[in-house]
Amino acid sequence: MKIAVASGKGGTGKTSISASLLLARPDTLAIDLDVEEPNLNILLGSFDGCVMPVTMPIARIEGSKCISCRKCAEACVYGAIAWLGAGVPVINESLCRGCGLCPRVCPPEAIYEEDQVVGEIRSGICGGISFLEGRLRVGSVNTVRVIEETVKKAQSFNETDWLMDCPPGTACPVAASLRHADMALLVTEPTPFGRSDLEGMLEMTADMRIPTALVVNKTGIGDILIDDLCRRFNADIIARYPFSRSAAESGARGESPFKTDAGWAETTRSLWSDIERRFS
Ligand code: SF4
Ligand code: SF4
Repeated sequence: MKIAVASGKGGTGKTSISASLLLARPDTLAIDLDVEEPNLNILLGSFDGCVMPVTMPIARIEGSKCISCRKCAEACVYGAIAWLGAGVPVINESLCRGCGLCPRVCPPEAIYEEDQVVGEIRSGICGGISFLEGRLRVGSVNTVRVIEETVKKAQSFNETDWLMDCPPGTACPVAASLRHADMALLVTEPTPFGRSDLEGMLEMTADMRIPTALVVNKTGIGDILIDDLCRRFNADIIARYPFSRSAAESGARGESPFKTDAGWAETTRSLWSDIERRFS
């Protein structure tokens, strides 16, 4: 089963719960798709493996061949080519998605593509668990490319059971991660922000028709109810982790609370049982 652990907002404890589930079932492939800030490895243990670059083709213009016809700027739906009224258009590399269209529409073949490194994939063992991590290069905005390449690498392993630690939010990077999942486990917290962002995530998983269950973390820090959302989206709460000072301190030390907090570990084991009972 391929499980995506996601949360509408950051700070709900999504990665702590991902790491705990992995430590409870170390034969599951760990995949960190939170490529803008990957930190699953910190909670799992030391990493041993290799690092591979993620590249994508970026359009470039050979100015001496350009006849200033403007066709490339008109064709690029991403707004990556600026036409300044005369001369050679300017390509904004950070907006180029490497779709390959502009070289095709350029009459004198003045546009070519060049591979650019946009991130990296770490592949190996982390804390005794098979591990993959996508990491976006500083300054790059091609988050989805790094996620897709990391998932492609995971598919090459032929492992049946995955746990993907997804990016926060409800934008394209989350959708790019969720579309590979058999089920989504949404981690939320009982606060107004938690509820609001959870609603966005539930709309997304419903639209994508992904079976979904909820985990409420830090119960006790707020009293916001989500029962109406559960009914509306047909998603049950299958675990509740009480707010715990010892769990917070473990996280601050870079340790998973699964190793240090007996109550947390017990809740995690029971969460696994519930996932298997309902979704296997
Ligand atoms: S390759 Fe695609 S995205 Fe990049 S500049 Fe050309 S048309 Fe735009
Ligand atoms: S399509 Fe080619 S020739 Fe026309 S403006 Fe763009 S780069 Fe220049």
